Amino acid sequence: MATLHLQHLTKRFGAVAAVDDASLTVASGEFVALLGPSGCGKTTLLRLIAGFEAPDAGTLHIGGQEVAAAGRALPPERRRVGMVFQDYALFPHLTVQENIAFGLGERRRRRSRHERAARVEALLELVGLPGLGARYPHELSGGQQQRVALARALAPEPAVVCLDEPWSAIDPMLRASMRAELAEILRGAGTTVLLVTHDQEEALTLADRVALMRDGRIVQAAAPERLYHEPVDPWSAAFVGTANFLEGHVADGRAVTALGELAARSPNGGGACSVLVRPELVHLAPDETADAVVVRREFHGHDVLHRVRLGDGTEVWSQRPSDEVVPLGAHVRIRLDGGPVAVFH
Ligand code: ATP
Repeated sequence: MATLHLQHLTKRFGAVAAVDDASLTVASGEFVALLGPSGCGKTTLLRLIAGFEAPDAGTLHIGGQEVAAAGRALPPERRRVGMVFQDYALFPHLTVQENIAFGLGERRRRRSRHERAARVEALLELVGLPGLGARYPHELSGGQQQRVALARALAPEPAVVCLDEPWSAIDPMLRASMRAELAEILRGAGTTVLLVTHDQEEALTLADRVALMRDGRIVQAAAPERLYHEPVDPWSAAFVGTANFLEGHVADGRAVTALGELAARSPNGGGACSVLVRPELVHLAPDETADAVVVRREFHGHDVLHRVRLGDGTEVWSQRPSDEVVPLGAHVRIRLDGGPVAVFH
Protein backbone atom coordinates (compact mmCIF):
# COMPACT_ATOMS: atom_id res chain seq x y z
CA MET A 1 0.00 0.00 0.00
CA ALA A 2 1.23 3.45 -0.80
CA THR A 3 2.14 5.48 2.25
CA LEU A 4 2.08 8.71 0.35
CA HIS A 5 -0.11 9.53 -2.59
CA LEU A 6 -0.11 12.97 -4.23
CA GLN A 7 -2.55 13.60 -7.05
CA HIS A 8 -2.39 16.76 -9.14
CA LEU A 9 -1.29 18.81 -6.14
CA THR A 10 -1.04 22.57 -6.79
CA LYS A 11 -0.03 25.43 -4.50
CA ARG A 12 0.13 29.03 -5.70
CA PHE A 13 1.64 32.09 -4.08
CA GLY A 14 0.12 34.98 -6.05
CA ALA A 15 1.14 34.45 -9.66
CA VAL A 16 3.74 31.78 -8.81
CA ALA A 17 2.69 28.12 -8.90
CA ALA A 18 5.27 26.90 -6.37
CA VAL A 19 3.88 23.37 -6.80
CA ASP A 20 2.19 22.77 -10.12
CA ASP A 21 0.07 19.67 -10.76
CA ALA A 22 2.45 17.35 -8.92
CA SER A 23 1.61 13.65 -8.75
CA LEU A 24 3.72 11.09 -6.90
CA THR A 25 3.18 7.77 -5.14
CA VAL A 26 5.63 6.59 -2.49
CA ALA A 27 5.36 2.95 -1.38
CA SER A 28 5.57 1.89 2.23
CA GLY A 29 9.23 1.68 3.28
CA GLU A 30 10.43 3.40 0.13
CA PHE A 31 13.14 6.09 0.23
CA VAL A 32 12.43 8.85 -2.29
CA ALA A 33 14.57 11.93 -2.86
CA LEU A 34 12.96 15.11 -4.11
CA LEU A 35 15.65 16.73 -6.25
CA GLY A 36 15.65 20.01 -8.10
CA PRO A 37 17.25 23.44 -8.41
CA SER A 38 16.69 26.26 -5.95
CA GLY A 39 13.15 27.61 -6.12
CA CYS A 40 11.64 24.62 -7.96
CA GLY A 41 9.12 23.98 -5.15
CA LYS A 42 10.71 21.18 -3.08
CA THR A 43 10.17 22.82 0.29
CA THR A 44 6.64 23.89 -0.58
CA LEU A 45 5.80 20.31 -1.55
CA LEU A 46 7.19 19.07 1.75
CA ARG A 47 5.19 21.71 3.64
CA LEU A 48 2.01 20.58 1.86
CA ILE A 49 2.72 17.00 2.94
CA ALA A 50 3.47 18.01 6.53
CA GLY A 51 0.38 20.19 6.71
CA PHE A 52 2.02 23.63 7.06
CA GLU A 53 0.37 24.67 3.80
CA ALA A 54 -2.98 23.76 2.23
CA PRO A 55 -3.18 22.97 -1.50
CA ASP A 56 -5.17 25.04 -4.00
CA ALA A 57 -5.97 21.92 -6.00
CA GLY A 58 -5.37 18.20 -5.96
CA THR A 59 -5.45 15.63 -3.17
CA LEU A 60 -2.99 14.16 -0.71
CA HIS A 61 -3.33 10.77 1.01
CA ILE A 62 -1.10 9.48 3.79
CA GLY A 63 -1.45 5.84 4.82
CA GLY A 64 -4.67 5.57 2.80
CA GLN A 65 -6.31 8.55 4.53
CA GLU A 66 -7.09 11.76 2.68
CA VAL A 67 -5.30 14.50 4.62
CA ALA A 68 -5.62 17.39 2.19
CA ALA A 69 -7.61 18.55 -0.81
CA ALA A 70 -8.53 21.95 -2.24
CA GLY A 71 -9.87 23.98 0.68
CA ARG A 72 -9.48 21.16 3.26
CA ALA A 73 -6.42 20.17 5.25
CA LEU A 74 -5.81 18.17 8.42
CA PRO A 75 -3.48 19.97 10.86
CA PRO A 76 0.16 18.73 11.03
CA GLU A 77 -0.28 16.92 14.36
CA ARG A 78 -2.96 14.65 12.88
CA ARG A 79 -0.96 13.50 9.84
CA ARG A 80 1.63 11.02 11.10
CA VAL A 81 4.42 12.89 9.33
CA GLY A 82 7.80 13.23 11.06
CA MET A 83 9.92 16.23 10.07
CA VAL A 84 13.68 16.76 10.23
CA PHE A 85 14.96 20.22 9.31
CA GLN A 86 18.42 21.44 8.38
CA ASP A 87 18.76 23.47 11.58
CA TYR A 88 17.70 20.48 13.76
CA ALA A 89 15.10 22.64 15.59
CA LEU A 90 15.80 21.02 18.98
CA PHE A 91 14.59 22.76 22.14
CA PRO A 92 17.77 24.19 23.67
CA HIS A 93 16.42 24.22 27.25
CA LEU A 94 15.39 20.55 27.16
CA THR A 95 17.72 17.57 27.50
CA VAL A 96 18.12 15.07 24.70
CA GLN A 97 15.74 12.74 26.54
CA GLU A 98 13.14 15.47 26.96
CA ASN A 99 13.46 16.51 23.32
CA ILE A 100 12.78 12.95 22.18
CA ALA A 101 9.99 12.44 24.74
CA PHE A 102 8.35 15.56 23.28
CA GLY A 103 8.16 13.65 20.00
CA LEU A 104 6.19 10.89 21.74
CA GLY A 105 3.32 13.40 21.88
CA GLU A 106 -0.07 13.49 23.54
CA ARG A 107 -1.20 10.10 22.34
CA ARG A 108 1.52 8.44 24.37
CA ARG A 109 1.01 10.37 27.59
CA ARG A 110 -0.97 7.39 28.88
CA ARG A 111 2.21 5.37 28.94
CA SER A 112 3.91 5.01 32.30
CA ARG A 113 7.00 7.06 32.99
CA HIS A 114 9.00 3.84 32.82
CA GLU A 115 7.61 2.92 29.39
CA ARG A 116 8.37 6.38 28.05
CA ALA A 117 11.94 6.27 29.35
CA ALA A 118 12.44 2.83 27.78
CA ARG A 119 11.10 4.07 24.44
CA VAL A 120 13.37 7.12 24.53
CA GLU A 121 16.39 4.94 25.30
CA ALA A 122 15.46 2.55 22.45
CA LEU A 123 15.31 5.52 20.07
CA LEU A 124 18.68 6.80 21.32
CA GLU A 125 20.09 3.35 20.68
CA LEU A 126 18.56 3.31 17.19
CA VAL A 127 20.30 6.57 16.25
CA GLY A 128 23.58 5.49 17.80
CA LEU A 129 23.57 7.75 20.87
CA PRO A 130 22.93 5.39 23.79
CA GLY A 131 23.42 6.93 27.21
CA LEU A 132 23.50 10.57 26.00
CA GLY A 133 19.94 11.34 27.08
CA ALA A 134 20.89 13.64 29.96
CA ARG A 135 22.91 16.03 27.79
CA TYR A 136 21.65 19.31 26.42
CA PRO A 137 21.74 20.02 22.65
CA HIS A 138 24.67 22.47 23.02
CA GLU A 139 26.72 19.63 24.52
CA LEU A 140 26.46 17.64 21.27
CA SER A 141 28.11 18.00 17.84
CA GLY A 142 26.00 19.09 14.87
CA GLY A 143 25.87 15.51 13.60
CA GLN A 144 24.73 14.23 16.99
CA GLN A 145 22.06 16.94 17.22
CA GLN A 146 20.76 15.88 13.82
CA ARG A 147 20.50 12.29 15.07
CA VAL A 148 18.51 13.49 18.08
CA ALA A 149 16.21 15.38 15.71
CA LEU A 150 15.74 12.15 13.76
CA ALA A 151 14.98 10.20 16.96
CA ARG A 152 12.38 12.84 17.89
CA ALA A 153 10.81 12.60 14.43
CA LEU A 154 10.66 8.79 14.66
CA ALA A 155 9.25 8.76 18.21
CA PRO A 156 5.54 8.89 17.32
CA GLU A 157 6.02 6.12 14.71
CA PRO A 158 5.14 8.33 11.74
CA ALA A 159 3.84 6.91 8.45
CA VAL A 160 6.43 9.00 6.61
CA VAL A 161 9.53 10.94 7.62
CA CYS A 162 10.31 14.10 5.65
CA LEU A 163 13.83 15.51 5.74
CA ASP A 164 14.50 18.99 4.34
CA GLU A 165 18.17 19.39 3.38
CA PRO A 166 19.11 17.76 6.71
CA TRP A 167 22.86 17.86 6.17
CA SER A 168 23.43 21.36 4.84
CA ALA A 169 24.48 22.70 8.27
CA ILE A 170 26.96 19.88 8.77
CA ASP A 171 30.67 20.22 8.07
CA PRO A 172 31.26 19.09 4.44
CA MET A 173 34.01 16.72 5.65
CA LEU A 174 31.49 14.89 7.83
CA ARG A 175 28.51 15.11 5.52
CA ALA A 176 29.14 12.02 3.39
CA SER A 177 29.59 9.66 6.35
CA MET A 178 26.80 11.36 8.25
CA ARG A 179 24.25 10.96 5.48
CA ALA A 180 25.18 7.32 4.87
CA GLU A 181 24.71 6.71 8.61
CA LEU A 182 21.35 8.45 8.77
CA ALA A 183 20.13 6.67 5.65
CA GLU A 184 21.09 3.36 7.22
CA ILE A 185 19.19 4.20 10.42
CA LEU A 186 16.11 5.10 8.39
CA ARG A 187 16.34 1.91 6.35
CA GLY A 188 16.83 -0.11 9.53
CA ALA A 189 13.68 1.44 10.97
CA GLY A 190 11.76 0.47 7.77
CA THR A 191 10.45 4.03 7.54
CA THR A 192 9.00 5.63 4.42
CA VAL A 193 11.26 8.56 3.64
CA LEU A 194 10.99 11.71 1.56
CA LEU A 195 14.29 13.58 1.40
CA VAL A 196 14.47 17.08 -0.06
CA THR A 197 17.82 17.96 -1.60
CA HIS A 198 19.36 20.04 -4.35
CA ASP A 199 22.44 17.79 -4.27
CA GLN A 200 22.26 15.24 -7.07
CA GLU A 201 24.97 13.04 -5.60
CA GLU A 202 23.01 12.81 -2.36
CA ALA A 203 19.82 11.92 -4.21
CA LEU A 204 21.43 9.35 -6.50
CA THR A 205 23.44 7.60 -3.79
CA LEU A 206 20.77 7.40 -1.08
CA ALA A 207 17.36 7.02 -2.66
CA ASP A 208 15.44 4.07 -4.13
CA ARG A 209 13.81 6.56 -6.47
CA VAL A 210 14.41 10.19 -7.30
CA ALA A 211 11.60 12.61 -8.09
CA LEU A 212 13.08 15.39 -10.20
CA MET A 213 11.32 18.78 -9.90
CA ARG A 214 11.42 21.77 -12.18
CA ASP A 215 9.25 24.91 -11.94
CA GLY A 216 6.85 23.26 -9.49
CA ARG A 217 6.39 20.14 -11.59
CA ILE A 218 7.66 16.63 -11.05
CA VAL A 219 9.23 15.96 -14.42
CA GLN A 220 10.40 12.40 -13.72
CA ALA A 221 10.26 9.96 -10.81
CA ALA A 222 12.53 6.98 -11.37
CA ALA A 223 15.32 4.82 -9.96
CA PRO A 224 18.68 6.67 -9.95
CA GLU A 225 20.12 4.57 -12.82
CA ARG A 226 17.05 5.24 -14.93
CA LEU A 227 17.16 8.97 -14.21
CA TYR A 228 20.80 9.06 -15.29
CA HIS A 229 20.56 6.87 -18.39
CA GLU A 230 16.99 7.55 -19.55
CA PRO A 231 16.19 11.17 -18.67
CA VAL A 232 12.86 12.40 -20.03
CA ASP A 233 14.28 15.51 -21.67
CA PRO A 234 17.55 17.37 -22.27
CA TRP A 235 17.04 19.61 -19.20
CA SER A 236 16.80 16.56 -16.91
CA ALA A 237 19.81 15.01 -18.64
CA ALA A 238 21.89 18.11 -17.95
CA PHE A 239 20.66 18.54 -14.35
CA VAL A 240 21.57 15.00 -13.32
CA GLY A 241 25.23 14.37 -14.06
CA THR A 242 27.22 15.94 -16.88
CA ALA A 243 25.78 15.75 -20.37
CA ASN A 244 27.29 15.99 -23.85
CA PHE A 245 24.67 16.48 -26.55
CA LEU A 246 25.86 15.47 -29.99
CA GLU A 247 23.88 16.10 -33.14
CA GLY A 248 23.11 12.93 -35.00
CA HIS A 249 20.47 10.62 -36.37
CA VAL A 250 19.06 7.21 -35.59
CA ALA A 251 19.52 4.39 -38.09
CA ASP A 252 18.93 0.66 -37.49
CA GLY A 253 18.66 1.19 -33.75
CA ARG A 254 22.00 3.05 -33.60
CA ALA A 255 22.63 6.67 -32.68
CA VAL A 256 25.05 7.94 -35.33
CA THR A 257 27.18 11.04 -34.63
CA ALA A 258 30.26 12.65 -36.17
CA LEU A 259 32.34 11.09 -33.36
CA GLY A 260 31.05 7.56 -33.81
CA GLU A 261 27.92 5.54 -33.18
CA LEU A 262 26.38 3.82 -30.20
CA ALA A 263 23.32 1.65 -29.59
CA ALA A 264 20.28 3.90 -29.01
CA ARG A 265 17.77 3.49 -26.18
CA SER A 266 14.17 3.50 -27.43
CA PRO A 267 15.40 4.09 -31.00
CA ASN A 268 11.89 4.41 -32.46
CA GLY A 269 11.30 7.63 -34.24
CA GLY A 270 14.38 7.55 -36.44
CA GLY A 271 15.71 10.66 -38.14
CA ALA A 272 17.58 13.65 -36.76
CA CYS A 273 18.15 13.75 -33.02
CA SER A 274 20.28 14.99 -30.18
CA VAL A 275 22.31 12.16 -28.65
CA LEU A 276 23.08 12.13 -24.91
CA VAL A 277 26.66 10.93 -24.57
CA ARG A 278 27.75 10.81 -20.92
CA PRO A 279 31.41 11.78 -20.40
CA GLU A 280 32.44 8.26 -19.36
CA LEU A 281 31.59 7.02 -22.88
CA VAL A 282 34.11 9.42 -24.42
CA HIS A 283 37.51 7.72 -24.71
CA LEU A 284 40.62 9.70 -25.67
CA ALA A 285 43.82 8.52 -27.33
CA PRO A 286 46.74 10.94 -27.90
CA ASP A 287 47.26 11.41 -31.63
CA GLU A 288 49.42 14.22 -33.10
CA THR A 289 47.44 14.14 -36.34
CA ALA A 290 43.99 14.55 -34.73
CA ASP A 291 42.32 17.99 -34.67
CA ALA A 292 40.65 17.62 -31.24
CA VAL A 293 42.57 19.32 -28.40
CA VAL A 294 42.39 18.99 -24.61
CA VAL A 295 41.59 22.50 -23.37
CA ARG A 296 40.85 21.80 -19.70
CA ARG A 297 41.59 19.08 -17.20
CA GLU A 298 40.17 18.31 -13.76
CA PHE A 299 41.77 15.63 -11.64
CA HIS A 300 39.28 14.02 -9.23
CA GLY A 301 41.41 11.27 -7.71
CA HIS A 302 39.63 8.14 -8.89
CA ASP A 303 38.86 9.70 -12.27
CA VAL A 304 39.84 12.59 -14.47
CA LEU A 305 37.73 14.98 -16.55
CA HIS A 306 39.00 16.37 -19.84
CA ARG A 307 37.31 19.13 -21.79
CA VAL A 308 38.06 18.57 -25.46
CA ARG A 309 37.61 21.14 -28.25
CA LEU A 310 36.74 19.52 -31.55
CA GLY A 311 37.81 20.72 -34.99
CA ASP A 312 34.49 22.53 -35.51
CA GLY A 313 34.84 24.44 -32.22
CA THR A 314 32.29 22.47 -30.20
CA GLU A 315 33.45 21.03 -26.88
CA VAL A 316 32.78 17.72 -25.11
CA TRP A 317 33.56 16.31 -21.69
CA SER A 318 35.39 13.04 -21.24
CA GLN A 319 35.52 11.30 -17.87
CA ARG A 320 37.94 8.38 -17.55
CA PRO A 321 39.78 6.51 -14.81
CA SER A 322 42.67 8.69 -13.65
CA ASP A 323 45.30 6.39 -15.15
CA GLU A 324 44.02 7.58 -18.56
CA VAL A 325 45.06 11.17 -17.93
CA VAL A 326 46.11 13.14 -21.02
CA PRO A 327 48.25 16.33 -20.93
CA LEU A 328 46.63 19.72 -21.41
CA GLY A 329 47.04 20.86 -25.02
CA ALA A 330 47.44 17.31 -26.34
CA HIS A 331 45.81 16.37 -29.61
CA VAL A 332 43.50 13.40 -29.19
CA ARG A 333 41.47 10.98 -31.19
CA ILE A 334 37.98 10.39 -29.77
CA ARG A 335 36.26 7.03 -29.61
CA LEU A 336 32.76 6.52 -28.24
CA ASP A 337 32.19 3.27 -26.40
CA GLY A 338 29.52 1.97 -24.01
CA GLY A 339 25.86 2.85 -23.88
CA PRO A 340 23.16 2.37 -25.00
CA VAL A 341 22.45 6.08 -25.06
CA ALA A 342 19.31 8.22 -24.87
CA VAL A 343 18.29 10.24 -27.91
CA PHE A 344 16.00 13.27 -28.08
CA HIS A 345 14.12 13.99 -31.25
P1 ATP B 1 15.35 26.03 -2.24
O1 ATP B 1 16.09 24.80 -2.68
O2 ATP B 1 16.05 27.30 -2.64
O3 ATP B 1 14.94 26.01 -0.81
P2 ATP B 1 12.77 25.09 -3.16
O4 ATP B 1 12.88 24.18 -4.31
O5 ATP B 1 12.56 24.48 -1.83
O6 ATP B 1 14.01 26.09 -3.12
P3 ATP B 1 10.40 26.63 -2.57
O7 ATP B 1 10.97 27.22 -1.33
O8 ATP B 1 9.37 25.59 -2.42
O9 ATP B 1 11.57 26.08 -3.51
O10 ATP B 1 9.83 27.82 -3.45
C1 ATP B 1 9.18 27.62 -4.71
C2 ATP B 1 8.69 28.96 -5.26
O11 ATP B 1 7.63 29.48 -4.47
C3 ATP B 1 9.76 30.04 -5.28
O12 ATP B 1 9.57 30.81 -6.43
C4 ATP B 1 9.48 30.84 -4.03
O13 ATP B 1 9.92 32.15 -4.17
C5 ATP B 1 7.98 30.74 -3.94
N1 ATP B 1 7.49 30.77 -2.54
C6 ATP B 1 7.72 29.83 -1.59
N2 ATP B 1 7.11 30.15 -0.44
C7 ATP B 1 6.47 31.31 -0.65
C8 ATP B 1 5.63 32.18 0.16
N3 ATP B 1 5.34 31.86 1.42
N4 ATP B 1 5.16 33.30 -0.40
C9 ATP B 1 5.44 33.61 -1.69
N5 ATP B 1 6.18 32.85 -2.50
C10 ATP B 1 6.70 31.73 -2.00
